[in-house]
Amino acid sequence: MHVVVVGAGLLGLSTAYALLRDGHSISLVDAGSGPAQGASFANAGMLSPSLTDPWNSPGIFFKMLRWLGREDAPFLLRPRAVPALAGWGIRFFWQSYRPRYERNWAANLRLGLYSMEVLDALCEREGLRFDRGRQGILKVFRDPAELADGHAQADFLARHGIETRVLDMDAAVEVEPALAAAAPALAGAIHHPIDEHGDAHRFCSELESHLRDGGAEFHYGTQAIRLSQRGQRIAALETHQGPMEADAFVIAAGSRTFEIAATAGVRVPVRPAKGYSISFELDDTCESPRMPVVDDSLHVALTPLGKKLRVAGTAEFAGHDTQLRPSRIQNLLDVLAQTYPGCAQHAEPESLSPWCGHRPLSADGVPVLGSTRLDNLFLNTGHGPLGWTLAAGSGRLVADLVSGRAPALPPEPYGVARFRGL
Ligand SMILES: Cc1cc2nc3c(=O)[nH]c(=O)nc-3n(C[C@H](O)[C@H](O)[C@H](O)COP(=O)(O)OP(=O)(O)OC[C@H]3O[C@@H](n4cnc5c(N)ncnc54)[C@H](O)[C@@H]3O)c2cc1C
Repeated sequence: MHVVVVGAGLLGLSTAYALLRDGHSISLVDAGSGPAQGASFANAGMLSPSLTDPWNSPGIFFKMLRWLGREDAPFLLRPRAVPALAGWGIRFFWQSYRPRYERNWAANLRLGLYSMEVLDALCEREGLRFDRGRQGILKVFRDPAELADGHAQADFLARHGIETRVLDMDAAVEVEPALAAAAPALAGAIHHPIDEHGDAHRFCSELESHLRDGGAEFHYGTQAIRLSQRGQRIAALETHQGPMEADAFVIAAGSRTFEIAATAGVRVPVRPAKGYSISFELDDTCESPRMPVVDDSLHVALTPLGKKLRVAGTAEFAGHDTQLRPSRIQNLLDVLAQTYPGCAQHAEPESLSPWCGHRPLSADGVPVLGSTRLDNLFLNTGHGPLGWTLAAGSGRLVADLVSGRAPALPPEPYGVARFRGL
């Protein structure tokens, strides 16, 4: 079959790779100038099945009310974005009821574990290099109440057979010696040994060149405008370069997917949640961290990627706004100074590579992927803060459905049909 995939980020490329392996011919369309120019460009780099809990956890409504208007809030809602979030927002809060939240987390966890298996097989086959590290991830907590929440999360993971290690700060410094200076101000930590990290942008670039070698066609600088429908099928993707016909279409256009899908009457409750990162070269005077450290209260991660350190996180609901707000960058610098004061002294303002990207966040915190009510239209989006962790497995799952094969995981928890009637 000839398959058009829209989006050359983590999800589009992973899907294209799996489809190519299944013997299909691939045309990949992206408005950008190369691979991973959207949310996949400079994320926190964590491959973290243990951290797949949805953001809409119990109590999120009151937390967001408290954070309203605060520039240092982990989640910041800009008033301008409220109208576009109305229906989506009600679903987002509705899904924070504990039984729904735990069901959604379990779905993400299953996909996360599966994704790591698929990623391992892919790396073994293709020998991809992307500064992968396998030392786990350390979550740190600033106060005892947050630590208690962390223990509850560790219990959930233990019930699902996932190892976690609850550590006092002496033990945490043994696991991550670079935390020595920050340790006295921290209440405790949890080590997630099965988690990993790696540079998502490098991964995408390497995967793209394998796809090219395998015969996939890339159409960069090409804006997808709408889907033309004929009966129960999509006949063509209209782009500003002209129509593209194919046997099947996969929309993996990140936080823009809902706009493209809507042109065929498919409603996808996924909206942009803007995040920021800074990245800089570590010099010899500061101790290089071994693994990502996540500051839970601020939703910020500090991840070593090769010779660089990346500080990334926080969420701003501000539509597709691409402005780099100094206050949000300052939040990242503050976390850096609190966590690695030695490194912070050497992070020169002009070499910080500040960046922002839009996570495609679904209303229930679970990706939206697989079949739609149209026979040959498929989705792969809505991974929110987990698109790197879930990419390889999501790509495989969607390719299985396109190829008419039963996927390794039941697809229903991830399908867009779950939102019908809500
Ligand atoms: C600050 C930050 C930190 C993060 N940290 C992590 C982490 O540690 N671990 C993790 O698992 N995930 C993390 N994520 C989430 C992860 O990066 C995203 O979920 C993932 O990148 C989404 O990939 P995507 O392919 O769906 O979207 P994108 O990477 O945004 O790709 C979508 C592509 O579609 C193209 N496109 C859009 N509209 C059109 C159109 N009309 N026509 C043609 N092309 C179009 C865009 O140009 C873009 O290239 C983080 C995200 C952010 C912002």
